[in-house]
Amino acid sequence: MSSRKPHTFSKKEMAKYNASRDPQHRHLSCHAPWRSLYFGIQGSISMCCYNQKDLLGYYGQGPSILDLWRGEKAQSIRREFNNRQMAEGCSRCAQLIKQNNVEGLLAKKYDSANSPVPSSWIPKWYAKGNLKPDYPEVLEFETGNRCNLACVMCNEACSSTIRSNMGLPPMKEAYDDAFIQEIKTILPHIKSAHFFGGEPFLIRHYLEIWEAIIAINSNIVSHVSTNGTILNGRVRSIIAGHPMNLSISMDAFSKEVYEKIRINGDYEALRKNIDYFLSIKEELDDLSITACVMPTNAMDIIHLVSFCQEHSINVFFNTVFEPREHSLQSMKKDDLAKVLHHYEDYQKVLEHEDTGLSINKRRFNGLIEQIRILLEEEDDAKHAQTPLSDKELFRAWKQTLSTRSAEIQAATSPSVAKEASVALQKVFDALPNYNLKKTFVHEIGRAPLKTLITRLSEDDWKTLHHEFIARFDEN
Ligand code: SF4
Ligand code: SF4
Repeated sequence: MSSRKPHTFSKKEMAKYNASRDPQHRHLSCHAPWRSLYFGIQGSISMCCYNQKDLLGYYGQGPSILDLWRGEKAQSIRREFNNRQMAEGCSRCAQLIKQNNVEGLLAKKYDSANSPVPSSWIPKWYAKGNLKPDYPEVLEFETGNRCNLACVMCNEACSSTIRSNMGLPPMKEAYDDAFIQEIKTILPHIKSAHFFGGEPFLIRHYLEIWEAIIAINSNIVSHVSTNGTILNGRVRSIIAGHPMNLSISMDAFSKEVYEKIRINGDYEALRKNIDYFLSIKEELDDLSITACVMPTNAMDIIHLVSFCQEHSINVFFNTVFEPREHSLQSMKKDDLAKVLHHYEDYQKVLEHEDTGLSINKRRFNGLIEQIRILLEEEDDAKHAQTPLSDKELFRAWKQTLSTRSAEIQAATSPSVAKEASVALQKVFDALPNYNLKKTFVHEIGRAPLKTLITRLSEDDWKTLHHEFIARFDEN
């Protein structure tokens, strides 16, 4: 018997979400499980980057990539989706739908003109075998963390520079050259590929995949989230060789704020590169700017929007959940209200402008709506000073540990699960300081489930505790 709890939406919540979608896609809350394969940094394979709970498996541990795509696990995840429901691991999309902040919603990005799932009566999928599509149409790579920056909202798993600044060894590569060969066999069926970092233009595997795309199927559109600082000859040839959709992460339009967030970033060099991208805009599939909206840059965002409108390029806003002190939720209510008033003033200016993209206006309105909901929903206690109080942090940590314990319980026998969750708790309790506890929770939060179970069931907690202290204690 399954103990899983898919997310269910009210008719009203779904109606608001669906109002922003083409009618032909509304029969499914999200099409990602039928279209997309995501490769995560530690070898995990799933259907998108948000849902890291419902994994199809791991690269290099037996089944081929296509066997995982067509396998039982993939089919059972697909069964959890319908027009008012999403799989249990889709919490981030579910939360944004419930907040009615759907303009930048990841699930929406998988709507496609040629949806692999027809809008016929849902139970017919089973009979038609639509739970088992032949190939994905979209590949997403987050397989390397090499990066030249150390942004404040990033972490040691995503940036090799942050990792090295913390004195940690480079991450072990989960993907080998055979991975590139396997990917080459799928490329003829692919319509688009997405590359996340680290900094994509510094990641060796990506450069090889792009060169394979140019050789095998140069119709594939590559979507790249880049910090915009790497622009050498090889990168220019790759950009020229096939359709590229470039999204430059920028966050701020003033040197002072930009360099406060994008540590090691050189604002002038970035502006020069942006001028180059603007000069080849017509040859690109698309060019956009993405901003993580945080307390540091919240007041600067309107300058970014204005720049994008001036050049008719898309602007996207990312919601920062972690680290919590860089999320909008961590702002004092009065400060957040000031941001809202600032945005509302600019909203009036935007509404009367005939130039620029109307979608940018909608995205900006979505951001405003998100802030309004934050102000309405959260009480003052939740808008704690930054950083969060010890009590709140402790509660959040406990929550992460108990979530992982529940996942272990669902994946293994009751006796192993019990031992594992006791061990987790003992290691956590015995760690002597704030920094170590914080790092421990972070590592546990993103460790692959299989590794976690193996380590927790094979080693006693004292061994794990000593090992963890040896790796992370700076004293
Ligand atoms: S709903 Fe969101 S989290 Fe779930 S599969 Fe779709 S894109 Fe991923
Ligand atoms: S550029 Fe991206 S990967 Fe690099 S540190 Fe910044 S957020 Fe992290």
